[in-house]
Amino acid sequence: MANIRIYFVFLPPMEKIRIILLFGVACFALCLAPFFAAAADCPPVQDHCERTDTLRMIFAGDVMGHGMQITGAWRDGGDTAYCYHPVFRYVKDYISSADVAVANLEVTLAGAPYRGYPEFSSHLSLAVALQDAGFDVLATANNHSLDRRKQGLERTIDVLDSLGIRHTGTFKDSAAWRQDYPLLVERKGFRLAFLNYTYGTNGIAVESPNVINRNDTMRMAADLLKARALQPDVIITFIHWGEEYRNRENAAQQQLARFLARGGSHLIIGAHPHVVQPFAKIPATDRDSAAVIYSLGNFVSNQRDRYRNGGIVLDVTLVKTDSVVRVASCGYEPFWVHRFPENSVSVFRLIAVNDFLRGPSKYIISETNRKLMMQFYEDLRLLLPNLPFSGYYRPEAEAHDE
Ligand SMILES: [Zn+2]
Repeated sequence: MANIRIYFVFLPPMEKIRIILLFGVACFALCLAPFFAAAADCPPVQDHCERTDTLRMIFAGDVMGHGMQITGAWRDGGDTAYCYHPVFRYVKDYISSADVAVANLEVTLAGAPYRGYPEFSSHLSLAVALQDAGFDVLATANNHSLDRRKQGLERTIDVLDSLGIRHTGTFKDSAAWRQDYPLLVERKGFRLAFLNYTYGTNGIAVESPNVINRNDTMRMAADLLKARALQPDVIITFIHWGEEYRNRENAAQQQLARFLARGGSHLIIGAHPHVVQPFAKIPATDRDSAAVIYSLGNFVSNQRDRYRNGGIVLDVTLVKTDSVVRVASCGYEPFWVHRFPENSVSVFRLIAVNDFLRGPSKYIISETNRKLMMQFYEDLRLLLPNLPFSGYYRPEAEAHDE
């Protein structure tokens, strides 16, 4: 080090300046090196400015109100003492975890007398319990919309409005239809347009000035145009169709699904057969494909036969990046309707089968019922080979891995 210092002292002045400058440049470069290295690891600048949002939607099938469900919900104390909350006790966490939860309300809330099949009217506490479970939107166009005629259609709308539950499919008059249809739901920066139709109303004619949306392709085409004009991120069509108790969709459903997809519907959600029907992707206009579930099956009912004693909830997550929306995941959850005797009546509790499988201890269920539930579960696995589970009810061990 001393030799270097002596060598420097004896150098000519210009040479000294040159060495000092070189040394300075070298130090500056060394100081900046870490910043350049860090910059090389960073993604391109535009990625920092991208905005990504997600929205999770779930869709449940037929909410029925058979006579035995009404008896099971009755509590001592007269007309105001119906309570449906326990029905959803075990699935409330799941339903309310979604940003938007939708179901098909296949009863009227027409007031007394409360009856099941064939002309349904359930106590309004059914809607209260659905809302408490986490449902935000109910589809009301189905073959039971007119079970209690004009009064039933209108009271159902009044009850849902009074509770603040969004609904679509039936309307008091054409002014309400013009104003509220398609139903636009805005949530977390996403705009969702909902359409809802039914093949018919069990031969009961709609009374003026009420409106019920029918599976009429001329009408649907006009409605899809109106929906697109609202510039939604997705158009969702909830449709009542198909043949009861048939596990496969028919040609008419396939044709109508293609029509809706070509018209701009991204998700087509089927109900009415009371059994689950397949899931498929079909060509669409403005995206790679639209998704259709031909039937979700029963969400809650007193139907106990094979395939009818449960249903699925479709679970769809959308991702929006710089205003481009795509489906990030699409899965399902099997829900089984557990019916068992309690205080001399039958009561109903929904069970998410994947929750039962990861922790059966909280459920008290007979061996016979457990076997029926597992048969339902296995049947679904065969029927929906192209649809994964939602992932919500992962086994505890997997959840802890993260
Ligand atoms: Zn139906």
